[in-house]
Amino acid sequence: MGFQLSYVNVKTAMSKSNLPGLDYSLNPYIGCYHSCIYCYARLYCKPEIAERWGEIVVVKKNIVELLKKELREKNRGVVGLSTITDAYQPIEAKELITRQVLEILLKNNFSVSIQTKSALLLRDVDLISENKEKVDVGVTITTLDENLAKLIEPRASKPADRVKVLEKLSSEKIKTWIFLGPIIPDLNEEDIKAIIEIAKSTNSSLYYDRFRIKPFMKTGLVKELAEKSKKVDWQEVALKIRKFCCDAGVESISAF
Ligand code: SF4
Repeated sequence: MGFQLSYVNVKTAMSKSNLPGLDYSLNPYIGCYHSCIYCYARLYCKPEIAERWGEIVVVKKNIVELLKKELREKNRGVVGLSTITDAYQPIEAKELITRQVLEILLKNNFSVSIQTKSALLLRDVDLISENKEKVDVGVTITTLDENLAKLIEPRASKPADRVKVLEKLSSEKIKTWIFLGPIIPDLNEEDIKAIIEIAKSTNSSLYYDRFRIKPFMKTGLVKELAEKSKKVDWQEVALKIRKFCCDAGVESISAF
């Protein structure tokens, strides 16, 4: 079956979030075209979307209007954009929902924490730059190896393009961070060091998380990675990352 796009009306725009550093989460889309093989977000979607992860994307067509109403009653806080989809996946280029949501949140004095694997974010640099005291941007980099990235994150921007996003944001003095997660069991010390060097050169902090085994990881490469991850001494990996970050003068935050 091919890619399927649909539109729904939702009842809420923002939800309370228990994630560290966030007060609310907002997801403009359901599902994610990027189709990362390890993506845990599918666990929070309906079975038909989870089972065909990456092939079904649902646009929350009324979310902008709903958000305008909701904001009147919400305390100001930090909104995570997005927590179970990528707000800058390709459909955003046409729909512009993330752009509108960002404008509304910032205009209403909410802070926004964005996490993405997409170079489309650069479209909104103007808006982010004008509001840099209220925005931070995290770019996920799990590997710098383009071939591996193609296998595990098939439709996300190439790692080199994600690095360009960080470089541009850094040149605009926007607060940035790299999410090194989930740490792929094959990731070697050289890759880890290279990612930390990017954090250093772009003035980003580094969040990292281990690979977590989930029930859907039953076949193919993700199963292999899950098997390999059982043999990884994660505490040793965490120690190495902390040491490399310390040597490079990069702030590191563990989600282990
Ligand atoms: S970009 Fe994020 S939300 Fe989208 S498939 Fe990959 S891990 Fe999941």
